[in-house]
Amino acid sequence: MNEPGKSILILFTGGTIGMVKDPATGALRPFPFDNILEEVPELQKFGYRLSSYTFTPLIDSSDMRPEIWVKMADVIENNYDKYDGFIVLHGTDTMAYSASALSFMLENLRKPVIFTGSQLPLGSLRTDGKENLISAVEIAAAEYKGHSAVPEVSIFFENRLYRGNRTSKNNVEDFNAFISGNYPPLAESGVHIKFNYHLINYLKSGEPLKVYKKLDNRIAILKLFPGISRLAVQSVLQMPGMRAIILETFGAGNAPNDDWFIDDIRNAVTRGLIIVNVTQCRIGSVAMGAYENSRRLADAGVISGRDMTPEAAVAKLMFLLGLYDDREQISRLIDQSLRGELT
Ligand code: ASP
Repeated sequence: MNEPGKSILILFTGGTIGMVKDPATGALRPFPFDNILEEVPELQKFGYRLSSYTFTPLIDSSDMRPEIWVKMADVIENNYDKYDGFIVLHGTDTMAYSASALSFMLENLRKPVIFTGSQLPLGSLRTDGKENLISAVEIAAAEYKGHSAVPEVSIFFENRLYRGNRTSKNNVEDFNAFISGNYPPLAESGVHIKFNYHLINYLKSGEPLKVYKKLDNRIAILKLFPGISRLAVQSVLQMPGMRAIILETFGAGNAPNDDWFIDDIRNAVTRGLIIVNVTQCRIGSVAMGAYENSRRLADAGVISGRDMTPEAAVAKLMFLLGLYDDREQISRLIDQSLRGELT
């Protein structure tokens, strides 16, 4: 149910939604609107108190970095008591990474943090931006049993609300740009907005919001492909200073069976590297031991990332490495659901 008088803060970080075409090059670039809300006057009809916070500089989300995630967390923390919900306008390219990161950085969240954006700028006649923003605002204001209907970090796009740390950008062309292959939508909008309450995390404890701002980016992704050379594998596994590697494997978590490959992985683990196995598939889970090829990875000390998306694995590792030094503790937490990121 929607309550008039709700207050929503809109964080405007950039992305196509607020871009214009550069007349000289024809390329889209962020445009510093004074007030993004004035571009969507329809929003006033809700009767909510809407404010916006514009990031400087506005960016194409391919320029996203952990420092900007910290800035987003800061803005939310500083305004947490003043607003009922938060919308983050963000480019689609790295939205799944940012939503994953914020899900780990904001613990005990009781208010909605909804990421949205668009495939076409607000200034374009067929923009999907207005509909996305209007629906996201309506969802952010929605209540269920006297509290926020969706007190999670989520992504609203086209007609679905997904748990942020379960999504990946899946389509460059369609308005329906995201996929959440391993978790159903938290809400769907049609004539009505239908909430799937049984899928939404409602906190039972009364713990206050806790914001984590230390992220460690000493990680890398090693994406496997048939014919990958030992040189390529070693150059990733032996990069100086790295603390963790995400191994993007085939199917249910499988990798080549060559002895050199398993030896290199085992040596890296022995040297102290944390190696997490996530699948290249968008739907399904790593099941180490289901095949001989993945059983050998488990024997070599690789940790299963189960059904985490690579985006969630990146964010979770940066978060855990920022928080702990102890390898055992980090490895144990990778395997546990901290914010609903794995099944
Ligand atoms: N390159 C844009 C961005 O991620 C794409 C978008 O917003 O859809 O900022």
